[in-house]
Amino acid sequence: MIARVIVDISASDVDRVFDYRASDEIQRGLRVLVPFGRQNVEGYVIDVCDTTDVPEDKLKDVSSVLDDRPIISEEFLHLCDYMTDRFHLRKIDVFRLFLPAKMRGGRIKELKKNFIFINPEYIDVDPNLFIKKTAGAQMEVYEYLLDVGTAEQSYLNANFSAAAVRNLVGRNVFLVKTENVLRTPYKGIVQKDDRVTLTPEQSNAVESIMLSDKPTLLFGVTGSGKTEVYLNCIERALKDGKTAIMLVPEISLTPQVMRIFRSRFGDDVALLHSGLSDGERFDEWRRLLTGEARVAVGARSAVFAPLTDVGLIVIDEEHDTSYVSESNPRYITRDVAFFRAKHNNAKVVMGSATPSVESFYAAKNGIYNAVYLKHRVNKREMPEIKIVNMCKEVSYGNSGMFSASLVSAIDECLNAGNQAILFLNRRGYSSYVMCRKCGYVAKCDDCDVSLVYHKEENLLKCHYCQRRYAMLDLCPNCKSPHIKQGFVGTERIVEQIKKMFPSARVIRMDNDTTRGKDAHLKLLGEFASGNADILVGTQMVAKGHDFANVTLVGIIDADMSLHFSDFRAVERTFQLITQVAGRAGREQKPGKVILQTHTPGHYVYRFATSYDYEGFYEKEINLLQATGFPPFTEILRMLISCENEQTALDATKLAIDKVRAVADKRANDFIYLTAMRSPKKRIQTKHRMQVLMRIKPDCDELRRAVYAVADEVTQSFPSVGCFTEINPNDLS
Ligand code: ADP
Ligand code: ZN
Ligand code: ZN
Repeated sequence: MIARVIVDISASDVDRVFDYRASDEIQRGLRVLVPFGRQNVEGYVIDVCDTTDVPEDKLKDVSSVLDDRPIISEEFLHLCDYMTDRFHLRKIDVFRLFLPAKMRGGRIKELKKNFIFINPEYIDVDPNLFIKKTAGAQMEVYEYLLDVGTAEQSYLNANFSAAAVRNLVGRNVFLVKTENVLRTPYKGIVQKDDRVTLTPEQSNAVESIMLSDKPTLLFGVTGSGKTEVYLNCIERALKDGKTAIMLVPEISLTPQVMRIFRSRFGDDVALLHSGLSDGERFDEWRRLLTGEARVAVGARSAVFAPLTDVGLIVIDEEHDTSYVSESNPRYITRDVAFFRAKHNNAKVVMGSATPSVESFYAAKNGIYNAVYLKHRVNKREMPEIKIVNMCKEVSYGNSGMFSASLVSAIDECLNAGNQAILFLNRRGYSSYVMCRKCGYVAKCDDCDVSLVYHKEENLLKCHYCQRRYAMLDLCPNCKSPHIKQGFVGTERIVEQIKKMFPSARVIRMDNDTTRGKDAHLKLLGEFASGNADILVGTQMVAKGHDFANVTLVGIIDADMSLHFSDFRAVERTFQLITQVAGRAGREQKPGKVILQTHTPGHYVYRFATSYDYEGFYEKEINLLQATGFPPFTEILRMLISCENEQTALDATKLAIDKVRAVADKRANDFIYLTAMRSPKKRIQTKHRMQVLMRIKPDCDELRRAVYAVADEVTQSFPSVGCFTEINPNDLS
């Protein structure tokens, strides 16, 4: 037989199939060791056939087979094809997503388990004849096995004495059989008393999700009990003998969330989060593969959970940017989820209090099934959001970061013994330019996105169309010279807070303080247990935490994400305000939100303060249509990088010429095309250029033509890296 193999080397010149001679036992999905160059490398058998074009004398043998049964299922082989086609990825990079790191490099080869049972000769015999009175541990495990019949060796070792087990095996009292485990027997769902009775809204949602043939968008306000809806849907899937995947943003994998799943599903759930070691991750993964665990809960990569017969996929906080991977291999989690759902005939539910405009558009147009949870479970009103005009503060002589209203609200909150969250809406490296007197922000005339200040050239640039503008000396609107660019950080906020409220205990949470493993969980835990009065943080404090004592949320500078040079900037701002406001007044105590801005007249604040998502959506979708952004177009970015600047320029020239040739033939489907230096011109030693395109959405053929250009570029310039992204979150 001929095994067609993808070798485990990530380079574009080996991204193809290699043929090897193999024995008749070879199967699709097995891992093998094959000679490649002078060494043996691991590879994946993606096909088996009878003939090959490789001449007999050149054909090499598979060195060894690493698994006893296929480790990549038929579903994942198809998923690999889909992902390479859709996202233009190397096959090997996709396979690497499917397996835990520990599986690779031959470190773990077998997926076998040892089961132990009593040698029949020792069953109807008085145990005292072969177990000494002093060997209590041996008696315990013997009696246990007498009771249950068979058990896994690792289970016995962990729960009884490993030495006793070894002794009895050594004396042939126990026998060992090695099995490839496919599925453990069906485990009943443990009923725990933490369950609640669903509200009618929640019950309707569950019914609708489980009946719909389309993916469901679950649009539920903060505190409406979406988690309970997911849990019920998962139970339904399990009852039907199926499995389930629950995806959450990494940051919301809090101990609280994990506890809920553990208590509801016990060992049936495998938790995949970044705090796991490689070994732990591998164990959880294996429990899913063997069917010991039937519910996978985790961040983005859990969409690749090795479950069969998936009945449900949940994408919680579906609008979250972490669902789009931003480094190679770049993929869109939702697309993978849809593929798996289709393959397994599974239900999909995407939940959010602030759906992405794109998803809501799909729901409105009948592509998704739309389900609403309009009320909070505890009937609490949404907290009142008060807007403070920071331009006015300047004219009163207050040029600090805190408005008078925020200071007095913090004071009040602390005096009452409550907690406050101060939120800094900071994203990326953005440096927009704003007038501190009237709030004017410099924008591109063509694209309606904020311009970015480039210090070296003292120019303002649009990151979408490359247009350049002179830096401003005076505000075009009010003629004030108070033009500001740059931003404050969380450190400075903490400094100021400590000055104003010396006795307050403050926790800072941002990229710097949460580097270590589990660091963010620790900080959140401290705040939740009341060890601090004020939590100062960036985006990571906005996610679904449930702090009972928080009565005040202060948004220091709401404009920061608003003027990010991104067509989704306004949408992100709306989402952030709604999410972070939802942290106030979750339980008995009513909450209050103070939102500081230099542009209080911006429509996003009007809609956010009245919690009017649909009003906001209508405004936004019209703008997107007028300016030709997704979902009305699809943005493609071809990112070209190379250590040699001239080579990068030459490669970009080739790329744009070739793409232009495609565009000329398909003028109607090609809305926009330009090439430029990437906003981040160099990363490490590589020069970065990009070709930006906007094309008709969902046009596979056109996208493939662009991918073919990328292939030509890498073939012509082997030292050049060339990746293409679909609707990237960030164009830097
Ligand atoms: P969301 O994710 O929509 O913001 P959660 O799922 O966090 O809301 O639910 C908010 C709170 O309401 C949680 O403390 C949850 O335990 C509780 N809850 C949810 N459903 C019910 C219900 N049917 N009865 C009582 N409490 C509920
Ligand atoms: Zn001005
Ligand atoms: Zn522009």
